[in-house]
Amino acid sequence: MKKLVLLSGGLDSTLCLHKVVGEESTPFALFFDYGQRGRALEWKYSRKQCELAGGVELKEVRMGDLFQQLSDSALVHVGKRVEMSEGHLPSVFLPARNAIFFSLAAAYASMKGISTVVSGIVETQFSYPDTTQDFKDSIEGALRTGLGESFTIETPLMGLSKGGIVKEALKFFEPTKFIKVLSNTVSCDKGLEPVCGECPSCLSRATGFRGAGLLDPLLEKFKRALISRPQ
Ligand SMILES: [Zn+2]
Repeated sequence: MKKLVLLSGGLDSTLCLHKVVGEESTPFALFFDYGQRGRALEWKYSRKQCELAGGVELKEVRMGDLFQQLSDSALVHVGKRVEMSEGHLPSVFLPARNAIFFSLAAAYASMKGISTVVSGIVETQFSYPDTTQDFKDSIEGALRTGLGESFTIETPLMGLSKGGIVKEALKFFEPTKFIKVLSNTVSCDKGLEPVCGECPSCLSRATGFRGAGLLDPLLEKFKRALISRPQ
């Protein structure tokens, strides 16, 4: 069965990609360049993950400055501060992003004869409103109706905590592969490598590894590179 994975090069979508390979479905991957700060790194690691997953066909969709025109989210404006405050969505929340992503994915999937789209969105206490089970069910229904054909969105990580996702990855990969794959994922909303340590994505990733009681292989890779750097 062919499945289209929405890939950002982050931990969650990467695990989804490898799971699709593991279940012996045929994966295709879709990457969105939507003007996000981290697009260069996300693209680099998405390509790397497609390689590690055995040579997955990866399509890049370039959306140019569409979101810069329509939103003042700090995710797509370098000049805006990345802020989080109690009771408010972080300034990197990008309204309607996932609705647009799923719609574009549906168009591409239809052309490729694929009826299943796989996404790494998760619903937790701190989720964005467009990563919830309710949102997923709604957009899946709307797109199925709008396409007039069979259409399913699979969200294999929905309901897991970030620590749960790290543990799931640990269970799924053999140890060397776990390090290889996870040290080649990137998550920073500011587009910094390895991490900025303060944006919602970096904090969530750190919480995940802490929750699983593990060191982040990405940080370990950078520590090693620093130690072995010639003076
Ligand atoms: Zn960050």
